[in-house]
Amino acid sequence: MTGSQEWFERARRVTPGGVNSPVRAFGAVGGTPRFVVDADGPYLVDADGREYVDLICSWGPMILGHRHPAVLEAVGRALEHGTSFGAPSRGEVELAEEIVDRVAPVEQVRLVSSGTEATMSAIRLARGFTGRSKVVKFAGCYHGHVDALLASAGSGLATFALPGSPGVTGAQTGDTVVLPYNDLAAVEKVFAESGPEIACVITEAAPGNMGAVPPLPGFNAGLREVTARHGALLVSDEVMTGFRAGRDGWYGRDGVAADLLTFGKVMGGGFPAAAFGGRADVMAHLAPAGPVYQAGTLSGNPVATAAGLATLRHCTPEVYARLEEVAQTIGRALSAGLDREGVGHRVQYSGTMFSVFFGDRPVVDFDGVSASESYRYAPFFHEMLRRGVYLPPSPFEAWFVSASHDDRAVERVLDAVPAAAAAAAAARPA
Ligand SMILES: *Cc1c(COP(=O)(O)O)cnc(C)c1O
Repeated sequence: MTGSQEWFERARRVTPGGVNSPVRAFGAVGGTPRFVVDADGPYLVDADGREYVDLICSWGPMILGHRHPAVLEAVGRALEHGTSFGAPSRGEVELAEEIVDRVAPVEQVRLVSSGTEATMSAIRLARGFTGRSKVVKFAGCYHGHVDALLASAGSGLATFALPGSPGVTGAQTGDTVVLPYNDLAAVEKVFAESGPEIACVITEAAPGNMGAVPPLPGFNAGLREVTARHGALLVSDEVMTGFRAGRDGWYGRDGVAADLLTFGKVMGGGFPAAAFGGRADVMAHLAPAGPVYQAGTLSGNPVATAAGLATLRHCTPEVYARLEEVAQTIGRALSAGLDREGVGHRVQYSGTMFSVFFGDRPVVDFDGVSASESYRYAPFFHEMLRRGVYLPPSPFEAWFVSASHDDRAVERVLDAVPAAAAAAAAARPA
């Protein structure tokens, strides 16, 4: 048993679909997921010994690249002192201080182990704090696999949500309202109808989970204004954008101060660490300071906090400048390649995450995403993969770069683009 094909067959016997998170499967593009045996800087090596330029970066965490020496060193030092205590440790305080220091609206923070836990806990806290039950979310925004948030009842008018997955009951999503993204009028309308029942609005600060669909100018500020006017909280999900869109995440770009923010991915440095935080008077409602219960055996794990802290401390202005440069360079080359082949498209950015939508229609919400010519993606993806570039195996996921993507790695991506663009041009709808 050596190559990805064999490992995938073994995996499918013991794990549903052969993967531990659905997006890793090649469901949307076909073919066999690559089993990774080694990673270094901007590169992945698969079980067949092939090397790829990594444009997923573990879906965000590997912002410094794989095996960054400072992160490895911090992890090694932490390991020498034990791996989990079930008692407070100094690294938790230092990581919390780093987050509070970077993101102005975050006065206090609670560490957890996944982004899902962070959003789930933030929602519970918003409900506990306001004494209200309804939660407003946007179609196409992903906040982890929280039952109440696994709802996306189509778009158009305000819809009281239907469950988005078997196993999620109507009771669990009954207090969830799903609205079209970037549609402030829909938000105003739902607040006019049920304002006193709405605990919070949760939004991706700049969405990356339907591909990159950034907020239109004024959208986040509008959410801030309408929630404040109605006594509801604004929860800004920065699990993807946090510490990636810039030193203080998307907040640093639009300055819209949410009441609660959620973080994950980058702040764990490749280990399971995430967080939610915000206004001190809201956070004071959290156990043991207040009555809203929340806990975790591995929360603030010393190895994860060491990796996260080392990562954040090395996220310098130069790192963010490099991310921007790499993302723009690849995006420009992609556009030029597709233009040469006459393929209508849009390369869109949510900070330094980006993605390509095929077709000529503007993409500002999930309807636009769904109407794009996504059938062009699979052949495009496989042509890039054949040429040693590992893209997200879905047309509706963002691409991630790291500060370790040097000119050689970027060149390899650019070299692969013309053939992939030709494959996208040749694609026909199924
Ligand atoms: C990844 C993600 C989550 C969930 O985080 P997990 O660590 O996978 O549970 C939540 N919100 C956003 C915006 C994400 O991108």
